This record gives sequence, structure tokens and C-alpha cells, in this order.
Amino acid sequence: MIKTKCAICGVDNSKVLYKANFEPEKINEYIFSARRLPDEIHYQIVKCKKCGLVYSNPILPLNKIEKFYKKSKYTYGIYEKDLGLTYSKYLNKFVGLLPSKENFLEIGCGNGFFLLKAKKLGFKNVFGVEPGKKIVAKSDPNIKKNIIVDIFKKGQFKKNYFDVICLFQVLDHLPSPNEVLTECYRILKPAGGILCINHDVDSFWAKVLGEKFPIFDIEHTYLYSKKTLRIIFEKNGFKTRNIFDIANSYPLFYWLRMFPLPVEIKLAIEKLLSSIGILNKRIWIKAGNIGIFAIKPK
Ligand SMILES: [Zn+2]
Repeated sequence: MIKTKCAICGVDNSKVLYKANFEPEKINEYIFSARRLPDEIHYQIVKCKKCGLVYSNPILPLNKIEKFYKKSKYTYGIYEKDLGLTYSKYLNKFVGLLPSKENFLEIGCGNGFFLLKAKKLGFKNVFGVEPGKKIVAKSDPNIKKNIIVDIFKKGQFKKNYFDVICLFQVLDHLPSPNEVLTECYRILKPAGGILCINHDVDSFWAKVLGEKFPIFDIEHTYLYSKKTLRIIFEKNGFKTRNIFDIANSYPLFYWLRMFPLPVEIKLAIEKLLSSIGILNKRIWIKAGNIGIFAIKPK
């Protein structure tokens, strides 16, 4: 295990929120599969006494984490359509502020389903970076050639190239957020924008459920609030244009499954909703995600 520090203050001056609840030798690539069902495994979770950033400390060595992500087996399954609806809704809000719709990048693009969506939204050249080989293998043949199968790192793209860079549920997973944001800054065009959507560690549900809130998860190195999200972007040179709550689109049965109720009650409600024919109805709910749109100043 290796020690981490506050990514904003650069030191570890923190208090413990929750103790680690797993044995390091039992960790494998199945656990490092984004958007799997919550299993409540997490590192020791601490909070910086100065800025309030929440982070995991200590964590597994970085080369091990990288290896797990490369072997990760996750697919989006039935939720791809919903994620596409949610992400394009927010990207659409900011498209008008971008220098042009020439070059689009998504970091952590999975099978590239959103790259196809970005093309439909009018972006001319779309690129993705994704470490999970098996996920990229399932991508659309028209899009596969535009995905770099690796961890996002320095030097993969030219400087001042992108109009927009998107990170959807990715920033929380990054053990080196400053390095990633510095590189994003370098490869964005002046006035280019970055759109980032992730969990809100300060959300209502995080407060109510505490340690049981599924964001306290071994995959997350850093967990942000609106305040710490803004600070880390501005620390890396970005100018915040907007910071906001995200409403996610999901079918009703998904929301019911995620809701903290005893299983028997959930099944009874599920039966009822099914009998009146609305179990698959899509609804938008603010459930503890936040977004930031920031630009590289001219
Ligand atoms: Zn701090």
C-alpha cells in the first residue's frame, strides 16, 4: 500500500472518516470494473483538515491499479442509452461556448458509445482514451480506430488541439488528478472547455447514508464537492464557467434498486410498479452527481 496526500494542498493533514474494510490480497480486476454493483469495499477514507477534499489513504500501488483497469471487464449493459441521454444533455448546454465543433476527446470512454453520440451532436473528429482492452474490443468498428487503449497520459495528443474534453465519472478514479488536468490544459485550444461529471461527496445522500453511500468505494481515490472540484480545476489554470447538480436519466426499476430500502419492500414496490406498467419509465433524478464546465483562458 502507498500513502496519498491531498491533491489540492499537496500534503496529508487529514482526519479519518471511515476505516478500510478489505484485505489487500483479495483485490482483483473484477473489483476495478466501473459501474459494477456497489459492494461497499473501500480504503481508509480521510478528509483534508484545510480544504475539505475527501480521499483514500493509503491505496494500492499505482502500477497495480493501472493493471486492474487494463484488465477490467465492465460493460455499460442496459444503461448505455440512459448515460448517453444524461451526458449529451449537459454537453449540449455548453457547445455554444466552444471555439468550434472540430475536435472532441473523452477520457475513460469505455466502449466509445459517447463518441458516436458526439459525432451525432456535430463534432467532426472524435477521440477517446480507455485502458480497458476488453471494453474497447466491443466498440463500434467506425469508432475503434479513434480510441487509444491505455491510461490517459502526457504526450498522447498535440497541444492546443481539442475544443472540448469530457470526463464522465472518471475524475474520482484518478490517483493523479493534477497531472491529468495539466495535460488536459495543454491539449485544449485556448477558450476550449472541459466538462467533468462525477459524484458529490457533499450530497444529501452522502450525508444521510454515510459510509453506506456507494461512492465510498475502492475505485475512488479522490471524492469532490462543488467547492473542491472548483479549487482543483482553478489550481490547474482553468476558469470555472459553471458548476451544477446533475440529474441522471434511468428507468424507474434502476432507481428503486439503488434506493436504501429492505429488499422485501423493494420487491413489493417493483411488483406494484410493474402491474401498473411504469417499471421501465425513464425519469430524471438528482441523485448526488455534480458537474463542472471550465475553460482554458485565452
Ligand atoms: Zn487539502
